[in-house]
Amino acid sequence: CGIIGVISKNDEKKLATITVQCLERLEYRGYDSVGVASMEGNELEVRKAKGRIDEVVKRLNILSMTGRVFLGHTRWATHGEPNDINAHPHTDCTNSIAVVHNGTIKNFRELREDLESLGHKFKSETDTEVIPHLVEEFKKRGMDSFSAFKSAINSIQGSYAVLAIIKGENKIYFAKKDNPLIIGLGDKMNFISSDIPSFLPYTNKVLILIDGDVGYITPDEIYIENEGKKVNVLDRIKIITWD
Ligand code: GLU
Repeated sequence: CGIIGVISKNDEKKLATITVQCLERLEYRGYDSVGVASMEGNELEVRKAKGRIDEVVKRLNILSMTGRVFLGHTRWATHGEPNDINAHPHTDCTNSIAVVHNGTIKNFRELREDLESLGHKFKSETDTEVIPHLVEEFKKRGMDSFSAFKSAINSIQGSYAVLAIIKGENKIYFAKKDNPLIIGLGDKMNFISSDIPSFLPYTNKVLILIDGDVGYITPDEIYIENEGKKVNVLDRIKIITWD
């Protein structure tokens, strides 16, 4: 399983290609399904299916997707069989929030029941789908997006590397506990991935996230908090000397 997020300042025509190449370099981690989300202004699109990367990319014409913000996922199913609907990214009721996740959410049944009793309709059998619905619910109660994302993360128990995008926001939100997640700082383009080799052709400037880190990346900013305290990002940046 692997996750990748790419965010660019420019109207980057090749962002779909870059996202797929990053995903291919995570292929060694094993997977059963593939999915990509792209966002351009107020348009959020998800294409996903069970199958191999090359085959799914071709069949769903993923390279034709456009936008400045991309998420990609290779799934190793833990909750819900491998099929097109259970593939990531997962979305909320209004398809305004897209989430990719590696790991397992232990308390997803309780969370799903609570959310369903509040009127949320679920599409998949995955544990992951509670995350976009939690963010949606907290936003509906008046929280700003980052607070809603943090509240969603505080609600889940288990292991996670999570990325989320929200319609109209040029940001990728992230959180990490027990599953790897690494930021790559590029030129007017930033990356966040399960592993360094996935984005190494584009940048060797990295920030390895630690458990409890939660924050967001934009094309030119990295913001991280841990246990409610702002992290000094510059202290954590490293240059990778291998290729
Ligand atoms: N638990 C999630 C699922 O089954 C994520 C699995 C993964 O890490 O790929 O969909």
